[in-house]
Amino acid sequence: MFDVVVIGGGNAALCAALTARENGASVLLLEAAPKEWRGGNSQHTRNLRCMHDAPQDVLVDSYSEEEFWQDLLKVTGGLTNEPLARMVIRASSTCREWMKKHGVHFQPPLSGALHVARTNAFFMGGGKALVNAYYRSAEKMGVVIRYHSPVDAIELQDGQFVAVRIGEQRIEARACVLAAGGFESNRAWLRKAWGQNAAGEWPADNFLIRGTRFNQGVLLKFMMDAGADVIGDPSQSHCVAIDARAPLYDGGICTRVDCVSLGVMLNRLSQRFYDEGEDFWPKRYAIWGRLVAQQPGQIGYSIIDSKAVGRFMPPVFPGVKADNLADLALQLGLEPGPFVQTIDAYNRACQSGTFNHTVLDDCHTLGLTPAKTHWALPIDTPPFYGYALRPGITFTYLGLKVNEHAAVHFNGQPSRNLFVAGEMMAGNVLGKGYTAGVGMSIGTAFGRIAGYQAALAAVREVSHETA
Ligand SMILES: Cc1cc2nc3c(=O)[nH]c(=O)nc-3n(C[C@H](O)[C@H](O)[C@H](O)COP(=O)(O)OP(=O)(O)OC[C@H]3O[C@@H](n4cnc5c(N)ncnc54)[C@H](O)[C@@H]3O)c2cc1C
Repeated sequence: MFDVVVIGGGNAALCAALTARENGASVLLLEAAPKEWRGGNSQHTRNLRCMHDAPQDVLVDSYSEEEFWQDLLKVTGGLTNEPLARMVIRASSTCREWMKKHGVHFQPPLSGALHVARTNAFFMGGGKALVNAYYRSAEKMGVVIRYHSPVDAIELQDGQFVAVRIGEQRIEARACVLAAGGFESNRAWLRKAWGQNAAGEWPADNFLIRGTRFNQGVLLKFMMDAGADVIGDPSQSHCVAIDARAPLYDGGICTRVDCVSLGVMLNRLSQRFYDEGEDFWPKRYAIWGRLVAQQPGQIGYSIIDSKAVGRFMPPVFPGVKADNLADLALQLGLEPGPFVQTIDAYNRACQSGTFNHTVLDDCHTLGLTPAKTHWALPIDTPPFYGYALRPGITFTYLGLKVNEHAAVHFNGQPSRNLFVAGEMMAGNVLGKGYTAGVGMSIGTAFGRIAGYQAALAAVREVSHETA
């Protein structure tokens, strides 16, 4: 019998498997995906958010525990568990040495990335290189890895883990870590969570999934039905506005369109609907998917002029380009009249200031609703560009409630040998909102905690068996 079975094959699962193995446990890792698609959403990532008190190899200045905490508090609007959040923050200051030991390399951000040189450490080769390094290290350390292994049920006895089931197959272990992601790839569940809007639309039907198709939420649903304590709202997720031409799954990072704060965002009636310059893009990009989801037809249009070009990472699909605004509207399938009127009104409201995209500058609008509070430059210099955007779901926040040991709870009681990490519990820290890189900080911190606790639990089970 294995000491620890880890369910999932992304960052949280790998951190758990490596840590459990380092602590002497025999480990089996079950990944639903085939080898070529291993790594879940983690394969699409680029960085993690790190607290640090002084400059480090790839991080400039400092980013204190308090500042990280305040950033998290602001984006979640207080929907976070402070002790657990602070554990994640502190762990982020030390985890990189451990990550390097397992083959992960870091690099400074490329120019044109989000404003993150101070707060986020980038993985050399991205998340794909990170998961490959972890798989290599896990294999070397003797972790047994099985692909094509979607676990569909768990055998429990009074809140304690007994075995996993994959179809007819039953695998016992002394302890288990659940790290099988959220339910973001399950379109039927998304449809139900978002429901029908006042116009009779089912908004989720127009969502695209930025990451893996394998996070169907099968185990999350199973655990909910089994009475595990749950946290979070099913309609809350990390949801980005992405290029409407992106594929349904696995479009990844390159379909994100990062010019929203440099121009205006319109709905299909050519109305603006939110302050595009509210805050720095890394602190705001994850609210735009939801904002677009609330617009008619779940579509938005990011409009910029040539002054914005070169100030953001070019997305994979080129923007629609035109020499005048009416032509741009036509090419985007919008009515030129209202479109030109909205941009003209915005241009008139722009106050002159000193444009600086690296600070919250003084370029803002006056007398316009909604206001654009920073980086408001008139859209007046052809060629003009437009990008049609759809909500792109990154990951859902509904998850299982944990304590500081990452234990799954039933009726407020922690399980002795069942633990959870990553997206399946991120909702404890992230009730809503997002700040770039915190998903990997949560998965790395709680993956390692869950792995360690599972190894300890297995030792306890062994002494129990031999007593
Ligand atoms: C495009 C994109 C970019 C992102 N960029 C960043 C970034 O730069 N920084 C950051 O912090 N976060 C980023 N995120 C979010 C980040 O990916 C997640 O927070 C993090 O990867 C979650 O890790 P995880 O291990 O919990 O889930 P995942 O990495 O998704 O792993 C879940 C695993 O479980 C497996 N699985 C699912 N169901 C089963 C089952 N029933 N049985 C067995 N296995 C199962 C899946 O195949 C998968 O391997 C990004 C996400 C996307 C989609």
